[in-house]
This record gives sequence, C-alpha cells and structure tokens, in this order.
Amino acid sequence: MTILNGKEIATDALAECREQVQALEAQGVTPGLAVVIVGKDPASHVYVGSKVKTCADLGIYSRRIELPEETSQRELLEVVAGLNADPSIHGILVQSPPPPQIDEEEIIRLIDPDKDVDGFHPVNVGKLVMEDDSGFVPCTPQGCIHLLERAGIETAGANAVVIGRSMIVGKPMALLLMGRGINATVTVAHSRTRELARVCREADILIPAIGRPEFVTADFVKEGAVVIDVGINRLEDSSRKSGYKLVGDVAYEEVAPKCRAITPVPGGVGPMTIAMLMGNTIKAARSSMGQPEGG
Ligand code: NDP
Repeated sequence: MTILNGKEIATDALAECREQVQALEAQGVTPGLAVVIVGKDPASHVYVGSKVKTCADLGIYSRRIELPEETSQRELLEVVAGLNADPSIHGILVQSPPPPQIDEEEIIRLIDPDKDVDGFHPVNVGKLVMEDDSGFVPCTPQGCIHLLERAGIETAGANAVVIGRSMIVGKPMALLLMGRGINATVTVAHSRTRELARVCREADILIPAIGRPEFVTADFVKEGAVVIDVGINRLEDSSRKSGYKLVGDVAYEEVAPKCRAITPVPGGVGPMTIAMLMGNTIKAARSSMGQPEGG
C-alpha cells in the first residue's frame, strides 16, 4: 500500500510555481490574489491564512479583505466590483461559506471570469465541460488529478466512483475524470444512490467528497483500489491543544490495508488544493499579459 503524500507532491508543484512567478517578475508583472472573507468562521480563517502565507512564500502579492459578519450583499458586490477593476489583482476568491444573508451564486457571477481562480463562474464551468483549456478548473478536483498523475496511477479505462455532486468538488471531479486526458469511466454517487457500498466496490479509483467523518468503511472498497479522500471534517478532541482533530470521509485505519494507494487526512488533498490555487493565479496573471499557459 502506498500513502499518497499530498504535502510532498504539493511542495514540488509549488517549487514550479515559484519559478513561474520569478519569470513573470522578470517581465515586470507580480501575480496578485485577493482573498475576501466575510464573518468569523474559524475553519475559513485557517484556510485563508494558509492561502495568504503560501502567496508570500512564492512571491505572489496577496490582499486579504476581512469583512464583518453583517456585511450586506450590496457591500460585498461593491468589493468584488472594485477588485474586478484593479489591475494589480489577477485572481479573486470569496471564501466559502459566507453568512446566510449573502447570495453566493450572485457573487460568483459578478467575479470577472478571467479572475475567477476558483473556477466557479458559469463561463469557467462551461469551459470545463467543453474541455477548453483557457478556463480555470476548480482547485480541489484539479489537485486530485495532479495527485493521480504524479503517483503514476493508470486512469485510462479505470472505473472511477465519485461520492458527492457539489459544484466545488463532485461535479468538476467527474468531468475531469471523464475528460480526454484522463479517460476514466465515471460513476457519480450521492445521498440518493442505492446500495452505495456495492457501487463503490466497483471502483478502481474511489473519490469520496461527502463531508461525513469516516463514512467510507472497508466494505466500500475493492481490494487494490486507489482511494482519494477529499473530506475534511473536524472532530472534537480534548487531548489536542486546538480542541479538535481533522479526519477524512474515509475510515483510514480499516480502509488503508485494502488499498493500492490512499491519501491521508490531513496531508493529502488539502495541500494540493492550495498549490492548484497558486497555479491558477499565475495562469490568470499570464493571461492578463496576453500569454497562453506555459508561455
Ligand atoms: P457538499 O456538502 O456541498 O456536498 C456533499 C455531497 O455529498 C453531496 O452531493 C451529497 O449528496 C453527498 N452526500 C452527503 N451525504 C451522503 C451520503 N450519506 N451518501 C452519499 N452521498 C452523500 O460538500 P463539498 O463538496 O463542498 O465538500 C465535501 C467534503 O470535501 C467536505 O468534507 C469538505 O470539507 C471537503 N472539502 C475539502 C477540500 C480540500 O481542499 N481537501 C476542498 C473542498 C471541500 P446530495 O447532493 O444528494 O445531498
């Protein structure tokens, strides 16, 4: 069994990003990322902190915009409009989940698609469906694909089962897996799927993105499967200073011995997500200069 070390693979991806940032600097452009956070959700603040820190490590300019819990839809739309118009900002993301008075979908639609480094704008969703590389691909599923590729997992013709159908993970994950570069045969399962464990046992590659701690047990997993655990769940743990521990959607201890390869939580998909965000921000900066990817 191989543990797919997301932290290590992300470090390699970030080293490539650092070189790309330096190349852009030499051409007089510093990639810029704006991260907007509304309210006090502690997990969201941790994620935003990691994104801002990674920007600093790479030489990407970042602007962290913290807005109070009671921010109105109009105020947030004005902030996003300002960032759309700001030439020093190439990427914009609004950290999810916002407070309940905010209509997240309207905010996403207002973000300039050329700055939508999360890949959630309908234009970018459409480009993903059409396999148009000029768009932005959501960071978490993109990170899962990167992990599979770096680990040398054969995907062509493989049976892949994704559990979850969100716009952030499940749906784009399924699209990427079925795409021409990857060529898996994809099943998407969700809360209404019948005989979920049996469906999952067909998987050569199983990707749970559910948000339920240790939901996927050994009876969901075929001997020799590859398991990419997207879930990040906080469980209370009084023995830790933070008061909680992170677990995935997979019951790791019982599932790992059956697997050919598996990602841990933490240290699997999480670090990959941030690395892909950095890559998307660099891509946005390059596009703003009229340079295609890799140019
Ligand atoms: P959502 O809540 O938006 O979606 C969860 C999906 O899981 C839904 O499609 C839901 O089905 C399905 N589901 C829920 N319960 C069951 C069940 N009992 N059986 C089968 N399917 C079920 O979550 P996200 O997609 O945003 O996130 C999923 C997980 O991934 C979370 O733990 C989140 O924290 C984590 N995550 C991790 C990231 C990372 O960087 N590693 C980034 C983003 C998310 P239905 O549609 O029928 O309700």
